[in-house]
Amino acid sequence: FHPDTQSISYTTLSRFPPVKLLPPSQRKRILVTGGAGFVGSHLVDRLMLLGHEVTVLDNFFTGSKTTVSHWVGHPNFEMVRHDVVEPFMIECDPSSPSVEIYHLACPASPPHYQFNAVKTIKTSFMGTLNMLGLAKRTKARFLITSTSEVYGDPEVHPQHEDYWGHVNPIGPRACYDEGKRVAETLTYGFHRQDGVDVRVARIFNTYGPRMNPFDGRVVSNFIVQALRGEDMTVYGDGKQTRSFQYIHDLIDGLIALMNSDETRPVNLGNGDEFTIGEFAELVRDIVEKVQREDGVRDPKRVNIVYKPMPTDDPQKRRPDTTRAKQVLDWEPRWTVRMGLEEMVRYYKAKMIEGSL
Ligand code: NAD
Ligand code: UDP
Repeated sequence: FHPDTQSISYTTLSRFPPVKLLPPSQRKRILVTGGAGFVGSHLVDRLMLLGHEVTVLDNFFTGSKTTVSHWVGHPNFEMVRHDVVEPFMIECDPSSPSVEIYHLACPASPPHYQFNAVKTIKTSFMGTLNMLGLAKRTKARFLITSTSEVYGDPEVHPQHEDYWGHVNPIGPRACYDEGKRVAETLTYGFHRQDGVDVRVARIFNTYGPRMNPFDGRVVSNFIVQALRGEDMTVYGDGKQTRSFQYIHDLIDGLIALMNSDETRPVNLGNGDEFTIGEFAELVRDIVEKVQREDGVRDPKRVNIVYKPMPTDDPQKRRPDTTRAKQVLDWEPRWTVRMGLEEMVRYYKAKMIEGSL
């Protein structure tokens, strides 16, 4: 322990966002795997602002150093390039007030996780095994970001946590779906056998700024296409449904879950369900509205075109969030319209800046 990390002065920190100054006894030591990704970087921001010590572990496969570069140099922040498929050794002062691991490392968009299916399974299985081993040794509380994909193409609607799912174990999505299912199994194995204190978040489709604009997910695809004046690509007949949650709601839910006593899986998602066809129209309307507000008098109306449906694409998806409401007193606060406007403005700014 270096004395500098015990007493941090405001003056040395003036170039950083205003971090809460916590006494060492309240400052948690938190490891965020996948912390340079879309969800991870927002989680890191929130944990840093709350005044905790945060270490990011990432191999930068789909994430980028730039998402958290604004924290580099801050005494509470550390970034390590590491692949979670390999064990990670870190020591921890047993008198530390609290040690937590948020285990996010895993590609999340279908084109990314299908790019190297074997690596995706290794990341979910071996990566989770390694991080659970670390949690066991350091007595850390462990939270894994699982997914609504564990429900597969669901036969129960909306999906509640007691539903066991309907997953094709050999299809192109299986590397991710089955990977997350086995990661959950491992998590509960360590919980029952070794007493590791675990939390399991089942996250439904989430969007927001810093989402990689080219990751192939529907929200980023539609916004980028509409902003560029290109055709918007709906896969299949557009009747499949999804429910979209804004990133800030998810981060509230993840932190509330970590701080709760709930060890059962908890769904985190927004219950507003759209067909993908309706969603394309909504995104088109919002992009036009933002363009009008920015002085474009007659924005171009882009076309919506239909492309083949990917294999095993789930037909419907909507979270039952009764458990999150009951045990975390959590519910989404951002409407889809509000969140989409924020995201359109973010991508638009990136386009003007020339990075998109
Ligand atoms: P993302 O691809 O933006 O972030 C994943 C991060 O993990 C990246 O920084 C990537 O470089 C890193 N990573 C991947 N493989 C790694 C490895 N082997 N070792 C170390 N780092 C590795 O994805 P995201 O949307 O931020 O998703 C984060 C987590 O949330 C994932 O576990 C994902 O399964 C889960 N999730 C996300 C959503 C969503 O809609 N965004 C939905 C359900 C679940
Ligand atoms: N989708 C689409 N056009 C796109 C990208 C995706 O119609 O350009 C569809 C996709 O087939 C799926 C839904 O949108 O039905 C959500 O896809 P995404 O990849 O965002 O997430 P996931 O399928 O994992 O829920």
